[in-house]
Amino acid sequence: MKNIPYRFYLPEEKMPKTWYNLRAAMPEKPEPLINPGTGKPVTADDLRPVFCDELIRQELDDHTPEFEIPKAILDMYRIFRPSPLIRAYRLEEALQTPARIYYKFEGNNTSGSHKFNSALAQAYYAKAQGISTLTTETGAGQWGTALAESCAAFGLDLTVFMVKGSYNQKPYRKDVMRTFGAQVLASPSDTTNAGRAILERDPETTGSLGCAISEAVEKAVTTPNCRYVLGSVLNQVLLHQSVIGLESYEAMMAFEEYPDIVIGCAGGGSNLGGLIAPFMRDTLTGKHTGTRYIAVEPASCPTLTRGRFEYDFCDTGKITPMAKMYTLGAGFIPSANHAGGLRYHGMSPIVSKLYHDGYMEAVAYEQTQVFEAAVQFARLETILPAPESAHAIRCAMDEAIKCRESGESKVILFGLSGTGYFDMSAYASYLDGTMGDTIPKDSEIAAR
Ligand SMILES: *Cc1c(COP(=O)(O)O)cnc(C)c1O
Repeated sequence: MKNIPYRFYLPEEKMPKTWYNLRAAMPEKPEPLINPGTGKPVTADDLRPVFCDELIRQELDDHTPEFEIPKAILDMYRIFRPSPLIRAYRLEEALQTPARIYYKFEGNNTSGSHKFNSALAQAYYAKAQGISTLTTETGAGQWGTALAESCAAFGLDLTVFMVKGSYNQKPYRKDVMRTFGAQVLASPSDTTNAGRAILERDPETTGSLGCAISEAVEKAVTTPNCRYVLGSVLNQVLLHQSVIGLESYEAMMAFEEYPDIVIGCAGGGSNLGGLIAPFMRDTLTGKHTGTRYIAVEPASCPTLTRGRFEYDFCDTGKITPMAKMYTLGAGFIPSANHAGGLRYHGMSPIVSKLYHDGYMEAVAYEQTQVFEAAVQFARLETILPAPESAHAIRCAMDEAIKCRESGESKVILFGLSGTGYFDMSAYASYLDGTMGDTIPKDSEIAAR
């Protein structure tokens, strides 16, 4: 093992020039998206009114291992990548653990999260196709911000449907997006049929990602030269996010380290799916065995740990294709947990399939446990973590504590997906001792 610095940035010549498609290594592929109208797997033609052509090609390709990253995207990546791989020396010392803990920090860009990696790609392909406007949804606001930055970079108009709970809880998020030129609407809004229908049923609703997706898709298909983009869940998003894993992999190679445990928080599964991609390739192909992969989710939205593996809609309005995934039901509206980015009823079909086939584990934590870890981490490592990312911190700390008890010096790698600067109301409620948690009853999960 090498002498390992606190913060490591991959040298320019080692930076990935291609994204890695984990599906290529999967012995059993994720089930295809289904067109609910025909009951058959979606075709490129089915998707064309909604998504850009190149992104459809990426979405439907289960076999090509590598996709070249276009130069214009590499040039943008160069502004904020590589992201650092950090050895958590101070956390290790505080926990008195023999484990070696590493984390990949994706919060060093204005969006404050990994989402910029895929937003740039999606905006680029839209522009290259001659599309003029994009629509999307955003929960906590990170995706909307990442896409607003990307649309500003490539010259596209953008309408963002922002989950009403977050819109009210994080007013400055909206202004960041507006600064980059986006139009931001609180969802459910009265500008779409889907939004009006949801408001009619429940005028006081704080909204959900599933509902905002319905509105954004409807707007895309009813607006000329407009397409919809999604920040997580889809295969194409995990493809773009593989840049996180590829950089981590190269850095670990440079350290002559290999993770025994890879941990990530899981909302729709994109940062986790991206982080694990090259390591999971080694697991699936037998090149390196014994690595554990852990998805961490909130107890208030326990998709993998308590959901069902079945075909479901990706949105509340049931207008999207159906995906075979772990789901709490398209009608499930999670309680107002502070980790907005983890409040989604479904899960990436790739992550779902790997979990179902026994290649991954999943755990769920209550938010007070998560914030306890976030505060301890901030004081030691000097980074204020996003509440979403703090789920991964909690799990990494618990695994490191197990190592202290067993005396094993395992290598733990976790994804620190973003910063928490826009989540200070959440930190305030934790610090004031007013934070609770709402864990859904079985009957609420079964409800459709
Ligand atoms: C959106 C978000 C997540 C969850 O999304 P995934 O697709 O599961 O990665 C996690 N962390 C941060 C900081 C986010 O913004």
